Amino acid sequence: MEFIEGPRPSACFFCEAAALPQGQEAERLVLARSPRALVLMNLYPYSNGHLLVAPTAHVADLEELDLEAAGELTALTRRSLRALRMALSPDGFNLGMNLGQVAGAGVADHLHQHLVPRWSGDTNFMPVLGDVKVMSEHIRVTYDKLRAAFDALS
Ligand SMILES: [Zn+2]
Repeated sequence: MEFIEGPRPSACFFCEAAALPQGQEAERLVLARSPRALVLMNLYPYSNGHLLVAPTAHVADLEELDLEAAGELTALTRRSLRALRMALSPDGFNLGMNLGQVAGAGVADHLHQHLVPRWSGDTNFMPVLGDVKVMSEHIRVTYDKLRAAFDALS
């Protein structure tokens, strides 16, 4: 618990987003928060509506996460799926975590789950968590749509 409650590294993207004051969520594209988890848009999306769900605790591995936080991570993932269905009508999703730099984690020391909406006929054979970036809608426009969906669900 000391590790979880101790001072957070100021340079961590997820910790900074988790610490944003109420009302400033949009600055970091944060869509929803719960006490132990948050969901935000990926600034470098693999597809339109690519979301990241992370615990507020600065932990690198799933085994380090306490079960309550893991439960909130799942709850926010489920809410994200509903919000994405409402706002963007995808045909499917890719969900996944990259654990460790070698596995492709951009931020390797703060656990996060990727949630990538997919549409029939979107880029075939696109590596799910690879480097291909497809942006068909300006990220702020998508943010506003998704934020409205999250707010309607909360
Ligand atoms: Zn962190």
